[in-house]
Amino acid sequence: MPDRECLICSMEEVDPASRVFLDELWAAEVAPGFEVPGWFFLRARRHAEKLTGLDESETATFGRHAHDLVSAVEQVTGAPAVYLLSFGETFRHFHALVAARGGEVPPELRGYGLIQLLAAGRDLPAAQALAGDVRLVYEEIVRGREHAAVR
Ligand SMILES: [Zn+2]
Repeated sequence: MPDRECLICSMEEVDPASRVFLDELWAAEVAPGFEVPGWFFLRARRHAEKLTGLDESETATFGRHAHDLVSAVEQVTGAPAVYLLSFGETFRHFHALVAARGGEVPPELRGYGLIQLLAAGRDLPAAQALAGDVRLVYEEIVRGREHAAVR
C-alpha cells in the first residue's frame, strides 16, 4: 500500500528518464533531491520498512539487483569505488543509495564524506543522462545472464 507521505513510494511516479529499471519487486532511479550524477536509489517497490521489513521474495532478490546495478554503474562510470549505503532512518521505506565515487573526489570526501557532495553536486540533466547509459548496461547484464541460463 503506497504511503502518500513517503518519498520512496512517490518514486513510482518518477520521470522515466530518471529510471534504470523497474520490475515486480524492485526499481532503481535517480531520487528526487539526490540528483548527483552516478547516484541511484535501489528501492523495494512495496512500502516495506527497513531491511528486516522485506518479505521472503524481496529478501531473496535484493542481492541480485544490488549486484547488477553496482556492476552497471561501475561499467558506465569507471569509478574506482561504487558505494552501497542504507541508513533507513530519514526514509524508513527500504532503499539503498548506490553512489559512484569518481577518481576526482578528494580523500576527505570519500567514504561517509561523500554525502557532502549532495550540497553542490546536484545536476538533474547530467544525472538523467547517466541513468540512460546505466539503463542500457543494466539491461545487457540481465539479458546476458538470462541467455547464459538457457544455454
Ligand atoms: Zn514508502
